[in-house]
Amino acid sequence: MSGSASGPVDTIFGRILRGEIPCDAVYSDDLCLAFRDVAPQAPVHLLVIPREPVPSLAEAGPEHQALLGHLLLVAARVAREQGLEGFRTVINSGAVAGQTVFHLHVHVLGGRAMAWPPG
Ligand code: AMP
Repeated sequence: MSGSASGPVDTIFGRILRGEIPCDAVYSDDLCLAFRDVAPQAPVHLLVIPREPVPSLAEAGPEHQALLGHLLLVAARVAREQGLEGFRTVINSGAVAGQTVFHLHVHVLGGRAMAWPPG
């Protein structure tokens, strides 16, 4: 599903935000929701998503400046609350970069050593 040409489209994350399908939530506020990734790539793998359905980072605009900062602060908060010593944040933007769900999300990965460069 792509939201790039026609603006925001509904995604599985929209369904999670509306409570239509369950998630394992770890944090929620007026602007965002954080929950465990269903296919974790590390012992701790969380997703932080805005309630506003911005399709990708590439499609965010100046009006999203505060929201983007908030998502990163929440990413650090949930990492800390999970007891992570260090963590990696990833935002895939566009299919070529590995984005599969076209609702902006910040991956928070931790609990194991991370390699660089990422694949
Ligand atoms: P990306 O490939 O960057 O778009 O990341 C999408 C992420 O969403 C993947 O890591 C998926 O495992 C995850 N995901 C997809 N569906 C769900 C779901 N229902 N609950 C939790 N995570 C999901």
